[in-house]
Amino acid sequence: MEDKKTFQVDERGFYGEFGGAYIPEILYGTVENLKNCYLEILESEEFQKEYIELLRDYVGRPSPLYYARRMSEKYGCRLYLKREDLNHTGAHKINNTIGQILMAKKMGKKRIIAETGAGQHGVATATVCALMDMPCVVYQGALDVERQHTNVERMKMLGAEVRPVTSGNQTLKDATNEAIRDWCCHPQDTFYIIGSTVGPHPYPDMVARLQSIISKEIKEQLQDKIGRDYPDVLMACVGGGSNAAGTIYHYIDDARVRIILAEAGGLGADTGHTAATIHTGRLGILHGSRTLVMQTPDGQVMEAESISAGLDYPGIGPMHANLATRHRATVYSINDDEAVKAAYELTRMEGIIPALESAHAIAALQKATFRHDDIVVLTVSGRGDKDVETYLNNKNMAGEYGNF
Ligand SMILES: *Cc1c(COP(=O)(O)O)cnc(C)c1O
Repeated sequence: MEDKKTFQVDERGFYGEFGGAYIPEILYGTVENLKNCYLEILESEEFQKEYIELLRDYVGRPSPLYYARRMSEKYGCRLYLKREDLNHTGAHKINNTIGQILMAKKMGKKRIIAETGAGQHGVATATVCALMDMPCVVYQGALDVERQHTNVERMKMLGAEVRPVTSGNQTLKDATNEAIRDWCCHPQDTFYIIGSTVGPHPYPDMVARLQSIISKEIKEQLQDKIGRDYPDVLMACVGGGSNAAGTIYHYIDDARVRIILAEAGGLGADTGHTAATIHTGRLGILHGSRTLVMQTPDGQVMEAESISAGLDYPGIGPMHANLATRHRATVYSINDDEAVKAAYELTRMEGIIPALESAHAIAALQKATFRHDDIVVLTVSGRGDKDVETYLNNKNMAGEYGNF
């Protein structure tokens, strides 16, 4: 394979063979307009000032980089946790929604739409819409509306309208289809806030840039703590890929830094009950992007299955498909029971209850090999408050930690 210089997006919106913008003609003008202005807006002084101020005073950034002493001893490395779980609304998603709503305002948009699965991105979007006094419609699969009752109430309390989607399997993929349909009907006045590094170009790159504050801070914090601004290993979980993209952004072309990603294996990558897109997906087009997609032999998109609602997506960001295919990143498939056990372990050893999604990254510590002086930075993408019931219902997966 020819040696490309960068793993970042190219001028055409591709990461290797992945990416692009495969959209209905009616959206062409809208997406083209965003593509032509997003970099200029993101890099403008005015945008940066507002964005950085909100991240500091509203989200609570910088998020700490915490040296996990007991876990370091156990895994034979020097493990630092990047604490996105301490952000306002409990995860990294707010970094992106703050940025996109500022983008929408600068572009003169009057109305916000979003899709959500578990409701985490819906809540993060409804939050910034309340903050900016913008009308907000969130599409959510009807099954998810039922399963994620608390987040639905949260979105409504924040003033958003939640529209249950009854087509297909009534989950995230169907909600995304419906959001795209809405966008097609209102391309002029509506801004679609996408929740991960997925969708048509420029979304994957825009979301990666908005999350890149994570690795910008890691650089500064490592310099402060160890006198060197790069780790040996970076670790993160991947659903669509946004917290991972933010974690690796400033190191993506730095060969000194190994990248380890954890995707959701569900019951097992080879069981058919999985969300391990990188392990089981084939090249296809999903939600405007050419990427790996979990699909049936005749090309129908499959339902993703995982204990973690936030990793339950049958696609993957084009950046990550490329990183995996070209072996820049090592990707482990982590099964439900391994993730639950890892969550209990972090809880008991460091007093941090992680989100189920983040627990997949923690479980990958078991699979990787480290030298004893390796500096490892692992992003804890969110907090586990939303998952406590699932943890208690699955104590049987927690091994020695489950006896209480
Ligand atoms: C949504 C979510 C994820 C998965 O999304 P990415 O775009 O892959 O980061 C991971 N962790 C938490 C806590 C989430 O809420």
